[in-house]
Amino acid sequence: MSHVDQLWAGWRHDYVVKAADESRERRAGLDVPECILCELETKGQDHFVVARNLNCFVVMNLYPYASGHLMVVPNEHHQNLEDFNVDVRNSIMDMTNTASKVLREIYKPDGINIGINMGEAAGAGIPGHLHVHVLPRWNADTNFLTAVANTRVMPETLESSFGKIYELWPQEEKNEQQ
Ligand SMILES: [Zn+2]
Repeated sequence: MSHVDQLWAGWRHDYVVKAADESRERRAGLDVPECILCELETKGQDHFVVARNLNCFVVMNLYPYASGHLMVVPNEHHQNLEDFNVDVRNSIMDMTNTASKVLREIYKPDGINIGINMGEAAGAGIPGHLHVHVLPRWNADTNFLTAVANTRVMPETLESSFGKIYELWPQEEKNEQQ
């Protein structure tokens, strides 16, 4: 196993452990106030936050299904699309559009997945805080379920993906914070 493989497996491991802990706490009736997406809202490039506008931000997925896997996240913490007002919904779609354009330019994929999982039953990893997944896909990809079930070997590091995406993101939305 190369150093990079270990790094990726490590990211995934941390996430799985955290999710399992939170799930246990929830079953025990304890409050789990912290939300990783709410925490990320104010973070810098060191947390892989690429860009932000008035209503939402874009961050690299730390446990990606493919290189360049982005998440568009509204600042407000709500579970369902209908919980957000029209301005926020428009901002989410606008950022999703920019994410799609940037990924297409960098990775020249055969296709792009844009998806929202609302609720745990729908597969949401962070069910309380809505987010849009945007990720490039290729004809030779494994199918989505296989990709979710296994730890994948990524052809590039998160830092490398971040650098390419940040460079191409429109200047006025770039996250200047280090
Ligand atoms: Zn949140």
